[in-house]
Amino acid sequence: MTPPGAETESGLVIATYRRHYDVALDGGEHVACVLKGRSLQIAVGDRVAIRRTADGGAIEAVSARTNLIYRSDAFKEKLLAANVTQIAGVVAPDLSLDEELINRWMIAAEAADCRFLLFANKTDLPEFAELRRRLAPYAALGYAIVELSAKREGTPALPWLADHHTVLVGQSGMGKSTLINALLPDAAVRTTEISNALQAGRHTTTSTTLYPLPGAGRDTWIVDSPGMKAFGLAHLEPSRIAEAFVEMRPFLGHCRFRDCRHDEEPGCAVTAAVVAGRVAPHRLALLHSLLAEATYARAKGR
Ligand code: GDP
Ligand code: ZN
Repeated sequence: MTPPGAETESGLVIATYRRHYDVALDGGEHVACVLKGRSLQIAVGDRVAIRRTADGGAIEAVSARTNLIYRSDAFKEKLLAANVTQIAGVVAPDLSLDEELINRWMIAAEAADCRFLLFANKTDLPEFAELRRRLAPYAALGYAIVELSAKREGTPALPWLADHHTVLVGQSGMGKSTLINALLPDAAVRTTEISNALQAGRHTTTSTTLYPLPGAGRDTWIVDSPGMKAFGLAHLEPSRIAEAFVEMRPFLGHCRFRDCRHDEEPGCAVTAAVVAGRVAPHRLALLHSLLAEATYARAKGR
């Protein structure tokens, strides 16, 4: 961290509303802060140093991050959270499943060195067996699928969240809010009310909110992100994207050309793995889209 002056206090960013931030100081107090200096980028999960002002605080410095989860296209980016250790997708059987979106969450997690898992919600619905069948390929890749009914109880999720910094993602309607409400003790719900009051006062929309989960370990939190239809990964470094596909890793480095794009090149070990049935064709197709997105964004100067 930039050396904080004697008068600064440190805390955790728990909510962002455009250029306004809720900071939970280490002593527990919440301070509504603005950002000093436009060059800083702040996300929930960031540790910051703040200085008191007449009507709240000003963020003066951000600690070095382990990672920063965001989505982006060639033109803009949307920060989700900093210092994240896992991304958990919420899926359910009663809405159509966007499998490309699930795969993108997974790639975002791998690229940021995070664990990825899925909460398969609404086990009480008769269509659940079909969802379980659809999710089998994700389990085969090595990702945990945690089955639960958030409407009844959130506790099956707890052991998976303990001691982690989790970003929850999901298409809207899958049950993300229900799960969060089932997990949060009253104290955390009160925290949200404070945040909502700030939000109402500012007439802005919340992008993301962080909830500490004290029952699950001292340094445990989850971040609720707004339901999203797309998850752009234009910021990924093109030469590193293939490594984020776990099942492709054994084949990388075995192509004839060192800069192989795993497309039409002769002697490509990855396309050979697809032909041999060891990599699913839709995963190779996603690799190609992500490479195209990232390359386009770079051409645009991002
Ligand atoms: P979000 O958009 O992902 O935050 O979804 P919500 O939490 O608002 O839930 C969407 C709908 O699914 C609501 O009508 C919930 O009551 C319902 N729902 C959530 N969890 C369950 C569950 O475990 N079983 C069933 N049957 N419905 C659920
Ligand atoms: Zn190749």
